[in-house]
Amino acid sequence: ADEDSVSVSLPLPSILTSSRESRWNDTNAYGSKKKLQSWLQLPNGDWELVKIITTSADESVISLPNGKVLKVKEDILVPANPDILDGVDDLMQLSYLNEPSVLFNLQYRYNHNMIYTKAGPVLVAVNPFKKVPLYGNDYIEAYKCKAIESPHVYAITDTAIREMIRDEVNQSIVISGESGAGKTETAKIAMQYLAALGGGSGIENEILKTNPILEAFGNGKTLRNDNSSRFGKLIEIHFSEAGKISGANIQTFLLEKSRVVQCNEGERSYHIFYQLCAGAPSSLREKLNLLSVEDYKYLRQSNCFSITGVDDAEEFQIVKEALDVVHISKGDQENVFAMLAAVLWLGNISFTVVDNENHVQAVEDEGLFTVAKLIGCEVEDLKLTLSTRKMKVGNDNIVQKLTLSQAIDARDALAKSIYACLFDWLVEQINKSLAVGKRRTGRSISILDIYGFESFNRNSFEQFCINYANERLQQHFNRHLFKLEQEEYIQDGIDWAKVEFEDNQDCLNLFEKKPLGLLSLIDEESTFPNGTDLTFANKLKQHLNSNSCFKGEREKAFTVRHYAGEVTYDTTGFLEKNRDLLHLDSIQLLSSSKCHLPKLFASHMLTQSEKPVVGPLHKSGGADSQKLSVATKFKGQLFQLMQRLESTSPHFIRCIKPNNLQSPGSYEQSLVLQQLRCCGVLEVVRISRSGFPTRVSHQKFARRYGFLLLENVASQDPLSVSVAILHQFNILPEMYQVGYTKLFFRTGQIGMLEDTRNRT
Ligand code: ATP
Ligand code: MG
Repeated sequence: ADEDSVSVSLPLPSILTSSRESRWNDTNAYGSKKKLQSWLQLPNGDWELVKIITTSADESVISLPNGKVLKVKEDILVPANPDILDGVDDLMQLSYLNEPSVLFNLQYRYNHNMIYTKAGPVLVAVNPFKKVPLYGNDYIEAYKCKAIESPHVYAITDTAIREMIRDEVNQSIVISGESGAGKTETAKIAMQYLAALGGGSGIENEILKTNPILEAFGNGKTLRNDNSSRFGKLIEIHFSEAGKISGANIQTFLLEKSRVVQCNEGERSYHIFYQLCAGAPSSLREKLNLLSVEDYKYLRQSNCFSITGVDDAEEFQIVKEALDVVHISKGDQENVFAMLAAVLWLGNISFTVVDNENHVQAVEDEGLFTVAKLIGCEVEDLKLTLSTRKMKVGNDNIVQKLTLSQAIDARDALAKSIYACLFDWLVEQINKSLAVGKRRTGRSISILDIYGFESFNRNSFEQFCINYANERLQQHFNRHLFKLEQEEYIQDGIDWAKVEFEDNQDCLNLFEKKPLGLLSLIDEESTFPNGTDLTFANKLKQHLNSNSCFKGEREKAFTVRHYAGEVTYDTTGFLEKNRDLLHLDSIQLLSSSKCHLPKLFASHMLTQSEKPVVGPLHKSGGADSQKLSVATKFKGQLFQLMQRLESTSPHFIRCIKPNNLQSPGSYEQSLVLQQLRCCGVLEVVRISRSGFPTRVSHQKFARRYGFLLLENVASQDPLSVSVAILHQFNILPEMYQVGYTKLFFRTGQIGMLEDTRNRT
């Protein structure tokens, strides 16, 4: 009660922090004498909490949890936090912000079903892989009226809503993490909260129903996640002045098209194919000549048809109902299903060799006839499109026959394009349905669910794009955090120049610099008719070797030093994936269609090709559809995304996958640690540590440690008491700063005081 009546005099930091001789020049010496427990790294890399029995010179006698007593070198021990800090809900409250302490704190909470933890401004979510009792209306209500304060997606979403209304600034919730870490679930949990608080008009239900649709068409089973999103997504939810949801808009990024025609053993293609085959009523089956999943080559090749615990037929009903909700007519739905069947049947088209030059022709069988029927074109035209290629030589049109591998490529390219167009078309229809009415105020909350940083044994063009996107997002993240830090220091009169800050601009330059950056060089090489993955790799080595973020590797590989670690890319397939060409013949085939969707897709593909071009300038005049390269298009999308995010006030959620088994209850320290590094949580910790992360009000500090004072202090105001404590314990001046209302400490300082306090 006396706290509020104390007047806080403005301190003069220069006096208080002026250099004094320290009685204990070496703070470690203090620590090692008084520390109660520490972290010891085991040979397998995991950390274990040990008790310190005695410490002499540079050695400590410690006891392990199993009772074993050991003598170890003092310097291999990492300080642990006092017990009162076990499982704190914000990592910043830890006195020692070292890696084992962060890991242990998350694990402690995870074991108690507290999957959410704050790391300063960032929410860390550890995937429970089981139902946890943290959701539903009761919890939503509790967070809404602030009856619960523990970290939660609801809490961060609530903050976003409040700040949107209070500050009249658009908000964003940026969710990142590895595949299977829980991004999509987290996004849905946030959407549920928004729908509950801002609902009423009915549009919120429509917005929620976009999830089953986009997951059916854009998610598939991978080895990492049974429901892996194969695209990035930004959903912008609009609010009226009264704080009610008035509409929404979805933008998607870089759908993994290759999955349609090819996926690894044990994985599946997009869910919707299996749902359609399992759930279509008999009339539809007949119309589309649907077989079961095992009969389609595209689905058969990975030898995986079902997902444990998932009923595809049931899911199909859910998707159909969702399509109704977002106003996609029954007729259009049938058109969509016809396109899906066409893609599946395309995969079943086979070829026979017709001459001794290995040229082929499509076989006139059920596959060919069904595809022609489904896409509404002539069988002959389809056959020709898949077996030949029209080219212009001088003024003459010539027809080149295709070899088997060329024909298969042409067929697969058509299947991929149809699917990608279908996906885009669906998103467009959904957006029309969700379109904001006239009474839009312009306030919004955006939720970004985008693939996190990826580093595999073999990294290809997809990882290249994804990791580039993550560099951009990381910069956004750093800037924001730094700004927040800076603001708090300035508010409390602290010299913030002492906070070091490192950004990843060098790596971004490596990607974006013109004309000698990774993106420019890949586009340049993609336009050369004779460009190959090898000439591309060599060009990179020739031009970029002096860049500190780049390292040329043997043959076709190169390494980029990303903020989250080094990644070696194998350029095999880079150029082809970047060009992403579809023969003009295929586009013409679609535009000859009697059906609505294929015609639409064709015109869409053609307008794309009118934009600035990248594509092999064909020696003979170019009969290919020339269009924006994938990398350039992605960069454009990314810039647009960053621009949108920059104009919002961001909230960050980092999802963590505690094990690779998708199973509850297992927490692998090394796996978690690696993700904490990659998604920037340790970076937050590092940035904070380079500043003064522990902040305690003068009052609280005086109250907690005042009784340790050996001499009476003349003035009893909290600031004077605090300063006396700092002096008595000879806390080094560079270890703290005195602000107008708070004391700011470097890491570890409070831990030392706590230890003393606990011994007293
Ligand atoms: P990807 O990048 O592959 O799309 P993701 O990060 O989106 O992965 P999710 O699909 O959200 O991962 O999560 C994977 C699985 O983890 C979910 O299907 C679900 O089983 C489980 N899961 C994630 N979050 C939660 C949660 N909060 N509660 C219960 N289970 C969860
Ligand atoms: Mg996902």
